[in-house]
Amino acid sequence: MSTMNASSLIPAPQNRTIRAPRGAEKTCTTWQAEAAMRMLMNNLDPEVAEHPESLIVYGGRGQAARSWEAYDAIIDTLQRLKADETLLVQSGKPVGVIQTHENAPRVMIANSNLVPHWGTQEHFDELSAKGLMMYGQMTAGSWIYIGTQGILQGTFETYAQCARDHFNGTLAGTLNVTGGCGGMGGAQPLSITLNGGTCLIADVDQTRLQRRLDDEYLDELVVDLDEAIDRAVELKAQKSATSVGWCGNSVTLLERLIERDIIPDTLTDQTSAHDPLQGYCPIEYTYEQSVEAREEDAAAYQKLSLASMRRHVEAMVKLQKLGSVTFDYGNNIRQRAFDEGFQDAFAFPGFVPAYIRPQFCLGRGPFRWCALSGDPIDIYKTDYALLQLFPKEDGAYNERLHQWILGCHKNPDALLAQDFDNCEPRFAFQGLPCRICWFGLGERDKAGLLFNNMVQSGAVSAPIVIGRDHLDCGSVASPNRETESMKDGTDAVSDWPLLNFATNIASGASWVSFHHGGGVGIGFSQHAGQVIVADGTNEAADRLSRVLKNDPMMGIFRHADAGYEDAIQCGRDQEVDIPMQS
Ligand code: NAD
Repeated sequence: MSTMNASSLIPAPQNRTIRAPRGAEKTCTTWQAEAAMRMLMNNLDPEVAEHPESLIVYGGRGQAARSWEAYDAIIDTLQRLKADETLLVQSGKPVGVIQTHENAPRVMIANSNLVPHWGTQEHFDELSAKGLMMYGQMTAGSWIYIGTQGILQGTFETYAQCARDHFNGTLAGTLNVTGGCGGMGGAQPLSITLNGGTCLIADVDQTRLQRRLDDEYLDELVVDLDEAIDRAVELKAQKSATSVGWCGNSVTLLERLIERDIIPDTLTDQTSAHDPLQGYCPIEYTYEQSVEAREEDAAAYQKLSLASMRRHVEAMVKLQKLGSVTFDYGNNIRQRAFDEGFQDAFAFPGFVPAYIRPQFCLGRGPFRWCALSGDPIDIYKTDYALLQLFPKEDGAYNERLHQWILGCHKNPDALLAQDFDNCEPRFAFQGLPCRICWFGLGERDKAGLLFNNMVQSGAVSAPIVIGRDHLDCGSVASPNRETESMKDGTDAVSDWPLLNFATNIASGASWVSFHHGGGVGIGFSQHAGQVIVADGTNEAADRLSRVLKNDPMMGIFRHADAGYEDAIQCGRDQEVDIPMQS
């Protein structure tokens, strides 16, 4: 357990406001380097990051750069980087520039990696306190975080699948309880209401709830605990798709629900339980007290934090036994409770085996894009173009895609009429305007080439960046999350993300990353990411076509190898070359 002060683990705050440049003029030599620079800056935009003053983007202490000096050096290097050079970044610090070629990535990033025997939170914290490492989470240190929208569709899909499996396809008339309204967790209330349900969400930090209210991800804030519960129960009875936030500890909320015999229809949690020191707040403290307590005695704080997580999971299992459809939402809270001696901690499943794996078997996963122009109209134009590219008549998935894209608009008729000036977002853009969709093998490359053509023809006013979360079909080894309960027991095999990292380098992604510890914390995961720029050139078209085919193909290889029939069939249908599968 860490003995250092909590503040030594994060960069000293600086009073700077970072905002990415907008428009079609670049200051770097290539659009690939320009895009990496703008997306790094965008990660730290106060509209996007949770604590930009300390370089923290989201997910507990997920950072974009190791220190402010490292940040400045990355920007300087990207601005002078030649078209045939590649910058190497080690745990958020630029460490070298190598001569490569024009189709190589402009940046290669490795964050938070440790040799497995030393891959513990204690060792990581020792190095981090000495300024030798940083925690990159998934998209913080790989410069493709796009704010809460980044997880919105994944969360929407998860609840949609849950509704199909348990509630006849809609959450209308259901009470959905959860905790953690931070960078990613803040997508939960809107995802639940988009699926028709009532949401009750707890967060210890009032400012986080207020931010989601301001961004229209959360509908109401109720101060008193019992009044918040009463309000949520009333909304459920009215079948009202409304979300209620309550400022307090999730454990307090769940134990009160048990006392009052109110059983949520669904139950999950997205507090930052992956990080017992910087992320989670024990029941003994208010948010303000927790900030001081972790500073005074980090070891004592973590002890309380882990004990609270045990109580938290005990309450979740109790409610599950009373009838709540309960699932883990990727923060490793079950493992923490198990390590604290709660034998039944894994009584409820993770969200991937419960709802998402069938999508992974089709190479499907998060596909996000961002308009470097800074102009929301460019995003509306891509929205419209995608609806044309994937007509809703062509199958159930396209129908859901249409529902999703139109659902991102307050005024869908304006979008359908191509009246882009009158389009309005359903939820606020944060930083550079962007969009997220889940696409599979055979869809991602089509979308990428469409965007490149739009840049080439001038239909959009500047290049478009295409990236994804590390949470994807063939890019993660995370036994308590993306690879939980694999059919062949290969949950912990991390050859796959390494092959994914190599595949994206060989295919010509614009920047690539390999991280350890994202989502579930140090020691529990390894994962890779890629980002590629559509700058309208023919060379970019070649790269896009390779990267956006090969990257999701890793999901087919991974799941076909593990024996999933859907992946094997998808491989056959799409003529994927898998040597030992006929
Ligand atoms: P974050 O650090 O931005 O937010 C976490 C929130 O939890 C904070 O607002 C904090 O105040 C609140 N909190 C902490 N302890 C609490 C408690 N006991 N009761 C109530 N509120 C409490 O993190 P984030 O980006 O929102 O991510 C949340 C967790 O989800 C992390 O563990 C992250 O790794 C994981 N995650 C999951 C997915 C997914 O798709 N399932 C994706 C990204 C991140």
